[in-house]
Amino acid sequence: MSRGTILDLCYLVAAITFILALKGLSNPKGARSGNFIAMAGMALAIGATFFTPGLTHIALIVIAMVIGIVIGIPAARFVKMTAMPQLVAIFNGVGGGAAALVSITTFIGTNSKEEATYRVLEVLVGVFIGTVSFSGSAIAFIKLQELITGRPITYPGQQIVNALLAVAAIGLIIAVLVTASTSLLWVLLIVSFLIGIGVVLPIGGADVPVLISLLNSLTGLAVAASGFTLNNNLLIVAGTLVGASGLLLTQMMCKSIGRSLPNILFSAFGSNITATGGADGVEGRSVRTGSTDDIGVLLAYARKVAIIPGYGLAVAQAQHTVRELADELESRGVEVFYAIHPVAGRMPGHMNVLLAEANVPYDQLKEMDDANPEMATCDVALVVGANDTVNPSAKTSPGSPIFGMPIINAEDAEHVVFLKRSMRPGFAGVDNELLFYDKTVLLFGDAKDTLSKLVSAVNAS
Ligand code: NDP
Repeated sequence: MSRGTILDLCYLVAAITFILALKGLSNPKGARSGNFIAMAGMALAIGATFFTPGLTHIALIVIAMVIGIVIGIPAARFVKMTAMPQLVAIFNGVGGGAAALVSITTFIGTNSKEEATYRVLEVLVGVFIGTVSFSGSAIAFIKLQELITGRPITYPGQQIVNALLAVAAIGLIIAVLVTASTSLLWVLLIVSFLIGIGVVLPIGGADVPVLISLLNSLTGLAVAASGFTLNNNLLIVAGTLVGASGLLLTQMMCKSIGRSLPNILFSAFGSNITATGGADGVEGRSVRTGSTDDIGVLLAYARKVAIIPGYGLAVAQAQHTVRELADELESRGVEVFYAIHPVAGRMPGHMNVLLAEANVPYDQLKEMDDANPEMATCDVALVVGANDTVNPSAKTSPGSPIFGMPIINAEDAEHVVFLKRSMRPGFAGVDNELLFYDKTVLLFGDAKDTLSKLVSAVNAS
């Protein structure tokens, strides 16, 4: 068997593992093994690549890999769980940027104009999409890191600037197709970079999950394009898988927030969306606060409790403590389930990852569509660090930036208990009317501390 055939066979096995991994990742139970299968497939693919006939610069490749390992492993191991979404955004952006660089270097390295022209389409796709994904992910990172506001950033004439950039990109793509000019390719790289920034800046608040999935998908497509450039079948397969699954996720995220993709991408341009967040909307209004002892009794004597986790659960790292409380309640005969909103937290599947870490039984997790019909039968909705995903203004306030987003109907439960630290709003910056409902009680404080006190209070009841 020739070296090339062995390489192709290894790539085929790796491609199969990627498909199996995606299947595993499609549900919480299989996610862990899905990840391991993907890691094994990727290790095989990387190892096999060293046997590519005619491969040169092996020392440089190894040095690049070592640098990647030295940066990547500590970044992934020591990242705080709360910073995971940013890390995912930056890893995604680096993937897109790498695909763009592969396309450019291949193009520059071609020996003749004919060859350059032959390769130009895949190069253009790789450069354009990869760079948009790179700069877009960088802005998503900056927003998630809260270095700039998470709300839509707009300015007068934004639509015109973005339209001009899009026209320039189309013009440059045609010009490079015709002339195979390297200088114009560099200009396209800069314009693509600006488009990534221009498209992402006006997307904010509750729409960010869609953005993240879309950028993920774009990186996949850019990688597939660089697979064509390098004649590497595995890159084509892997890139297409990421691109397709990213698109499916984008579609699901759009459904979760009740908006269409064009609406998300273009609605904030030039508009003046203002969230009601901050002190203004809540100033002078009073809320009902409770004591952990009172809420402990309420929970201990409830028949059914829905726990609604949100981003604050990740901030407080309270996943183990919330499970402790749920276990305590169940041991007293209280029925407990977790109502999971698809965009709760800061990355798709964030709550599932956290609760899986605490070994919460999968049958206690209910997706929003399954949880909502049960909310009216619950004595208590215990909202642990969630805000936007339970905010009724998504149903009642047409002017709200989250209007139209399906929510977990916490307000249908007989009592609503919020665990949060202050009256600050959530990511979308929208005040939450549910905090002021008569049936609502607030327990201020870090969710982990409050949950531990609730465990003791339930115990003592
Ligand atoms: P929110 O961001 O709406 O609210 C988080 C709440 O947690 C706040 O009320 C905050 O209040 C509270 N909180 C923060 N830290 C703590 C703590 N240590 N202890 C107790 N409470 C705490 O979260 P949701 O999960 O409800 O909604 C997610 C939002 O993020 C949506 O708008 C979604 O669109 C967006 N988003 C989602 C992404 C995804 O992929 N899932 C990606 C990017 C954005 P306080 O400060 O007063 O404590």
